[in-house]
Amino acid sequence: MNKVLILVVEDDKPVRNLITTTLKMHDYRFIEASCAEMALLETASHNPDIILLDLGLPDMDGVEVIERIRSWSNVPIIVISARSEDADKIKALDAGADDYLTKPFSVDELLARLRVTQRRLSIIKAENTSSEFINGQLRIDYAAGCAYLSGEEMRLTPMEYKLLCLLSQNVGKVLTHTFIMQKIWGSSRESDLASLRVFMATLRRKLESAPDSFQYIQTHIGIGYRMLKID
Ligand code: CA
Repeated sequence: MNKVLILVVEDDKPVRNLITTTLKMHDYRFIEASCAEMALLETASHNPDIILLDLGLPDMDGVEVIERIRSWSNVPIIVISARSEDADKIKALDAGADDYLTKPFSVDELLARLRVTQRRLSIIKAENTSSEFINGQLRIDYAAGCAYLSGEEMRLTPMEYKLLCLLSQNVGKVLTHTFIMQKIWGSSRESDLASLRVFMATLRRKLESAPDSFQYIQTHIGIGYRMLKID
């Protein structure tokens, strides 16, 4: 029995029914909200484990809903948007969303995103107090400031190490270019974006050069990057 409680925020009834039917079939518990006002109320009163949030709501912009929830809760939020424009997704991610789905989406896609988020939740719980991060062949010793791949110490520049730590501390979550640049450089200029791409390329080369290597870093074109959790 899956004990995870999911809040489904969606004003379009057929879409909401599709989602809740899927959740029911896979033993998730769920509650529903058809507008932003209800979503905020349900979040406060039921404390869900994950929120699936439609961005286009009748009474408030979804991005504002994220901002309000983030003022008091870190609950994972997966944005569901009919708008395929990257700008909306980026705004939502920068406001604190964890992931996104673009309509129309498949049931398998929805379930995959939920699994990613659940893994992320369990990692946060397990590693809150740990100074070590393990993912696939990768191990980071935060206290020592070293990263190891298949037991071998990685030769990383300080910038690459900073990037790797930022990605690992947010494993499973899509980080926007702006977020990463703010964290690494304290600013997000156009020139920083070019540097970020270069650092990310060299980091990936070091991480994923072995022929049997896992893919650790996923690129979201025009949006940002995510470190994948290796099973
Ligand atoms: Ca809608």
